[in-house]
Amino acid sequence: MENKLWCFVSMALIAAGSVTTSYAKDDGKTPIQFIPVKDVQINDAFWTPKFNRWNSVTVPDVFNKFEGKHLKTAEEQNNNNIFMDFDEVAAGRKGTGHSAGLPWFNGLVYETIRGVSDLLMQHPDKKLEDRIDKYITRIEAAQKIDSNGFIDTYTDLVQPEYRWGENGGFLRWQHNVYNAGMLIEAGVHYYEATGKVKLLEVAVRLANYMCDLMGPAPKKNIIPSHSGPEEAVIKLYWLFKQNPDIKKQINLPVDETAYWKLVTFWMENRGKHCGYPLWVKWGNEKSEQWIREQKYKDPQFGDNARPSWGDYAQDSITIFEQKTIEGHAVRATLLATGVVAAALENHSPKYIQTATDWWDNMVGRRMFITGGVGAIHFDEKFGEDYFLPTDAYLETCAAVGAGFFSQRMNELTGEGKYMDEFERVLYNNVLTGISLSGDKYTYQNPLNSHNHSRWEWHSCPCCPPMFLKIVSAMPDSSMQNKLIN
Ligand SMILES: [Zn+2]
Repeated sequence: MENKLWCFVSMALIAAGSVTTSYAKDDGKTPIQFIPVKDVQINDAFWTPKFNRWNSVTVPDVFNKFEGKHLKTAEEQNNNNIFMDFDEVAAGRKGTGHSAGLPWFNGLVYETIRGVSDLLMQHPDKKLEDRIDKYITRIEAAQKIDSNGFIDTYTDLVQPEYRWGENGGFLRWQHNVYNAGMLIEAGVHYYEATGKVKLLEVAVRLANYMCDLMGPAPKKNIIPSHSGPEEAVIKLYWLFKQNPDIKKQINLPVDETAYWKLVTFWMENRGKHCGYPLWVKWGNEKSEQWIREQKYKDPQFGDNARPSWGDYAQDSITIFEQKTIEGHAVRATLLATGVVAAALENHSPKYIQTATDWWDNMVGRRMFITGGVGAIHFDEKFGEDYFLPTDAYLETCAAVGAGFFSQRMNELTGEGKYMDEFERVLYNNVLTGISLSGDKYTYQNPLNSHNHSRWEWHSCPCCPPMFLKIVSAMPDSSMQNKLIN
């Protein structure tokens, strides 16, 4: 076994300040020791100019575009300013029928805050921190309007009756749990970066609500139909487990074991549904209609039945039965990352085997020479083994997910092969996602880029926040490690 810790980092970085020698779990079962991001400075001819550009151009660019500032008229700007949706909700307006973005835009904003938090640890910027503080005030105000702490501006403004996919809602489209997870992760990272607890408290309020609502009967059988919340809630669990004193700063009850239970429920209840709709046989349209008509509530399915979210959302069978990496490539790689994060905590052979099976299948048979994954445009999904066409889809977000998956596998095992694949995807399918100017991005990254060019913004701008998340995490590959230092 080769103990390879971020070989590109070893060439590119110099450590400054204290260097941690302890592992977050501190259980002697994991071989990797990490340097926390705040203790690393990048001083390298290749990376330093890029980070300078991303800090000075990309970060304000992404926030500006989520505020609609790239648009010409004031009306266009207001209609596309996602932060004004938080203000609308905070003002008590519901069901207005207008949202500045798609259902997952809240999550994209939170992902950006998470990425920028990590950048702030390396490059303190008071003005930028003030800007984020103002966003957080608006986010908190929107949450406080709801007695449970629910926050999801698209659902509240466009379809408030469909919260968590209830009453004929279509959770796979709504992204309620995904958005919640990204908020929680942002709360943890922003706390790490600044020591400020306001967003962390918003995160705890929402996590507590989900813990009360979701779980084994009589709680509701709700799982994230878009993964990401799994790893996010594990980070919240680790934060309080390793730093119980932080609870004193939170004006809410904190039971971190409930957060861990929620994650394992989400993991182990994939595939545990009523057996319908038959996504492959019926197709997406008919399947969605079946869910919207709430046919899963038919007494034949028993109490508390839920629909299947299909292969697309890694929900046809349990994760332990699934031997190959399947479905929507961003969802799949983020779920895989969550499985490994959970394995770091529970050391379960079942979790480790599942993650290993998926990684071996992904890298051995379904990954492109660039590290890109997700060959098929339809459903943005993995193809069959060895289906590797030159015009394949290869979304930037999926590359980021594959990178995080490999990094966590390295953390779990200490094996260098995982970081080899991290490097492959970082250099060849993540960096393609942004222009040298720092303000143009890609969604698809086919080997043959004919007819593809970078765009200034996108109707679904998921990739720039994901890009920021992974590059900002580069100096530190153990999200929980820095919490104990
Ligand atoms: Zn994307």
